[in-house]
Amino acid sequence: MEQPKNAASLADLGEFGLIDRIAGQTQTHNQSTIRGIGDDAAVICAGGRHQVVTTDLLLEGIHFDLTYCPLKHLGYKAVAVNLSDVYAMNARPRQITVSIGVSAKFTLKAIDELYEGIRLACERYGADLVGGDTSTSLTGLTISITAIGEAEPDRIVYRNGARPNDIICVSGDLGAAYMGLQLLEREKRVLKGNAFERPAFDGYDYILERQLKPEPRADVIDFLEKIDVRPTAMMDVSDGLSSELLHICHSSGLGCRVYEEKIPIDHVTRNMADEINFNPVVAALNGGEDYELLFTIAQADYQKFQSIPGPNIYAIGYMTEADKGCRLITQGGSEADLVAQGWKAFAQ
Ligand code: ADP
Ligand code: MG
Repeated sequence: MEQPKNAASLADLGEFGLIDRIAGQTQTHNQSTIRGIGDDAAVICAGGRHQVVTTDLLLEGIHFDLTYCPLKHLGYKAVAVNLSDVYAMNARPRQITVSIGVSAKFTLKAIDELYEGIRLACERYGADLVGGDTSTSLTGLTISITAIGEAEPDRIVYRNGARPNDIICVSGDLGAAYMGLQLLEREKRVLKGNAFERPAFDGYDYILERQLKPEPRADVIDFLEKIDVRPTAMMDVSDGLSSELLHICHSSGLGCRVYEEKIPIDHVTRNMADEINFNPVVAALNGGEDYELLFTIAQADYQKFQSIPGPNIYAIGYMTEADKGCRLITQGGSEADLVAQGWKAFAQ
């Protein structure tokens, strides 16, 4: 991935530039380190099986807003987004650790609620909570979760295995979580100082649920195993389709063509987008937090998706040689470069 030369600041580099820089300065030495920085999770050899390890940091005011995010949902989501990275390696979660920084404003009941959500997600996805760390915080709530999963070595799927002409698939509709966030933000602004109003959420349950309580796609991993399809590359959609596609393209040394009309977008997402005069395709491309799986498969494997009933899988485009670039084919038939908005995390 390209980095600005002589980058002067974090803003120049962006989040992914910074990660690339750290990766470039880091070497691994142990034979058991199969994959270090650069995928959804690290891969470690543990005897006959491989373990995957992934970690996420959630900061109050950056990643969540407690005025509209109930603590139980927050706990659930914090685990869910980590497990999503485990599934994105085609692995299954086994253990998590949870570290929290808590300020004095929190009650014991609040922390109980947070852990209720954490335990619920653990139960649903078969992970054990096995440790963590606890500290006071001066700056609101901080949650850091590490998830450990396992897989047979030959089942693990990286971001870099896509081949030209592979079909690009996504496991569900995109842009809903972003539209849910817009709705929550709008109602927060409307209700500020107006304690007697009720928020106008009617008809929008779906996008609120996608924002507040995402589910990692364990069912898709089970289905892929059942129909004996091993994706050539895979990752989860946390930063938006554009950004994730560019990761797969760059890691695999390829380009891609994605058809705007094939990108799945739910009608509730479209309704909300209409209401606030926003292009729903932009929400799908750049919104993020969908936690669907984005993967590439060999063309010959595509028919296996129809062989038994299973989750809807949407084919949205195909991989090309690198010199063809990474492009979106719009409804009108013109081509536009895919741009990763998710890379500007440090921009002011
Ligand atoms: P995801 O969106 O799938 O969670 P990230 O973009 O957060 O992935 O991370 C991409 C890769 O960079 C992962 O391998 C992750 O472990 C690594 N990474 C992210 N931040 C750091 C850091 N501060 N130091 C070392 N590695 C990092
Ligand atoms: Mg990921």
